[in-house]
Amino acid sequence: MPEEQKKFYITTPIYYVNDKPHIGHAYTTIAADVLARLHRQLGDDTWFLTGTDEHGAKIEAAAKKAGKNPQEFVDEVSAKYSLTWDQLGIAPDDFIRTTEDRHKKSVAIFLNNLKNSGKVYGGDYEGLYCVGHEAFIKESDLVDGVCPEHKTKPEKIKEKNWFFKLSDYQNILKEKIEKDEILIQPNTRKNEVLSFINQGLEDIAISRPNVKWGIPIPWDIDQTTYVWVEALFNYCSAVGYGIDQEKFQKYWPADLHMMGKEIIKFHCIIWPALLLAIEIEPPKRVFANGFFTVAGQKISKTIGNVIDPNDWVAKYGADAVRYFLLREVPFGEDGDVSEEKLKSRYNSDLANGLGNLFSRITNMVEKFLDGDVELTKSPRDLSEVSEAFYNLDFSHGLEVAWETVAWADGLIDKAKPWELHKTEPKKVKELLINLVAVLSELALKLSPIMPDAANKIREALEQEKITKPSAPLFPKID
Ligand SMILES: [Zn+2]
Repeated sequence: MPEEQKKFYITTPIYYVNDKPHIGHAYTTIAADVLARLHRQLGDDTWFLTGTDEHGAKIEAAAKKAGKNPQEFVDEVSAKYSLTWDQLGIAPDDFIRTTEDRHKKSVAIFLNNLKNSGKVYGGDYEGLYCVGHEAFIKESDLVDGVCPEHKTKPEKIKEKNWFFKLSDYQNILKEKIEKDEILIQPNTRKNEVLSFINQGLEDIAISRPNVKWGIPIPWDIDQTTYVWVEALFNYCSAVGYGIDQEKFQKYWPADLHMMGKEIIKFHCIIWPALLLAIEIEPPKRVFANGFFTVAGQKISKTIGNVIDPNDWVAKYGADAVRYFLLREVPFGEDGDVSEEKLKSRYNSDLANGLGNLFSRITNMVEKFLDGDVELTKSPRDLSEVSEAFYNLDFSHGLEVAWETVAWADGLIDKAKPWELHKTEPKKVKELLINLVAVLSELALKLSPIMPDAANKIREALEQEKITKPSAPLFPKID
């Protein structure tokens, strides 16, 4: 990890508010929150952005179905996102909504600059559009005439659009990605993007003439901006593009865009090309996490196995959900989660592991040392934990941390302080000083992942007199 202080601008996608948040949204956003907390801990000037994407035909339709006007509808769903993040202990520096004035103003400036770049032209589009995707879809992508993902027939569209010359950026994008000037991780995603670019890039429509719920094209107000184009721009508008130049220059380019792997092409092709057109540096790094199955099955509304993260938080607490998701699956890979697995990890790793160690140590300090312990330097080096988190290898970092939990438990079992204190009180004191130091260091290193528990541990250990807390850190769940 670098020593000097830097700025660190990290983002999640802004989530589409056609439905409430699920476990996949929570996963990406928790990981981003962990990195933001870690960078703040390292002293970096950190800015963590998340938010909601609120325009487009799909939202218009969802609002209509719910019997609401679009603004009323997006207000409600967007609030569900920010409440859920709050429940999960996620603390962004900013939460942007694309229906906010600051975004609309910034997008208008961006679009004018894009037009002035000479990379925009008017033309006719004839083809297929999948409303589920909010994107044009090729005939060759259909299976039995329907979108394979949404199982719906695409709309046949013939309309006048404004286009962006994405095809002009094929070589420069390829070069920047190959040279890791735009670093795409994991490597499988980088290869996927490169092979897509190598097939040849086509120009894209950036406006829609028949979608009312959107941001008007400044020079053609009968058209609204294609929702993906303005949504991507949130990363710039939120830090003041065209409005607060000082802030924009301070934070741009983004150091890390986090997302699920399904939207990697939008972020690694369309997004940097739009930025290059307006002479703005592309993002430095894009990281895509994998997908979850639930108990071996694909998550789907039809199966009814969609997980509301709030349900898990209510039962197990935010720290446990954060811990579980990052521990269970190596970040970047696909994996399987279930409440059964969460419960098992909760009881073994948290209740019987860290929580039990905390109560053992504080109990013995109270009993054998009358609560008096000076806080010293940890005899065990835990820098590998933070280093793993820094490199987004959360599961490895947690594994290393829990090796220390097991090591400390083993030390206690072997020394048997409850017997030893009768004959060798000095040795018991030395042992407990070391254990308190290790536990305190462990809490510090774990605080980006489990801020609440880490705080409780450190507060307890920093007291004048340490006493065993009245309630367990993680009460066992049957
Ligand atoms: Zn689709």
